[in-house]
Amino acid sequence: MKLLLLGPPGGGKGTQSKFLVNKFSIPQISTGDMLREHLKNNTSLGQKAQRFMDSGNLVPDDIILNMMENRFKKTDCKKGYILDGFPRTLTQAEGLEKLLSHLKQNLDLVIVINVDDDIIIDRMGGRRIHPASGRTYHIKFNPPKKNDIDDITGEKLIIRIDDQEDTVKKRLEVYHSLTKPLINFYQSKDIISFINGENEIKKVRRDIFHLIDTKKNV
Ligand code: ADP
Ligand code: AMP
Repeated sequence: MKLLLLGPPGGGKGTQSKFLVNKFSIPQISTGDMLREHLKNNTSLGQKAQRFMDSGNLVPDDIILNMMENRFKKTDCKKGYILDGFPRTLTQAEGLEKLLSHLKQNLDLVIVINVDDDIIIDRMGGRRIHPASGRTYHIKFNPPKKNDIDDITGEKLIIRIDDQEDTVKKRLEVYHSLTKPLINFYQSKDIISFINGENEIKKVRRDIFHLIDTKKNV
């Protein structure tokens, strides 16, 4: 199964990806997590990406497409994957088409998780992440068992620099202008479905699982 989760920053893509990974045993491919790993390891890619990420802008398309070309070569992608946060521009979507056609693959389903901007701005202040795994928590809506500690490893959770309110607003602007047009792009391919991401986490999970069940060829 090859899935793409599309939606605003903070819409719940990472949270829902983890449920899908557990259920279908396919990898989550999060370009945000991959880039944060580069930042942590201070690679040259990380150095190029940092100023874009910290300011809430998108990292240039060529860097992202190159990174994804390498990612698709890994054997864990053979059974399928969940794309989370990629593509984010029309150029990336077209680049993805080319990469997939080389691999003789198609996306099965694009799920758009819709959440209003005001709710996103409210949510992001409470996000905490475990950088090593990409696991995400929320101090109110999905708290860890112990304050600021990852449930699985016992390591400390952090607040992302780009979750400050001004940066979140910038990221939402970028989403509306550059990423939302992908909805039309995938609508023309007839593989897109919409989910209300404003419901509570478990309800969104049920709706996504139900949607996948109804798509017989996925
Ligand atoms: P994305 O990967 O789309 O940026 P996340 O999955 O990291 O979004 O979710 C952003 C924040 O909102 C996290 O703190 C997460 O725990 C919380 N969250 C995710 N889905 C919901 C939801 N349906 N209701 C309330 N909070 C949510
Ligand atoms: P995310 O973790 O998906 O919210 O991404 C965090 C940041 O990484 C974004 O604000 C961008 O700066 C950068 N980023 C992640 N994925 C992409 C992408 N597909 N294209 C461009 N920039 C990206």
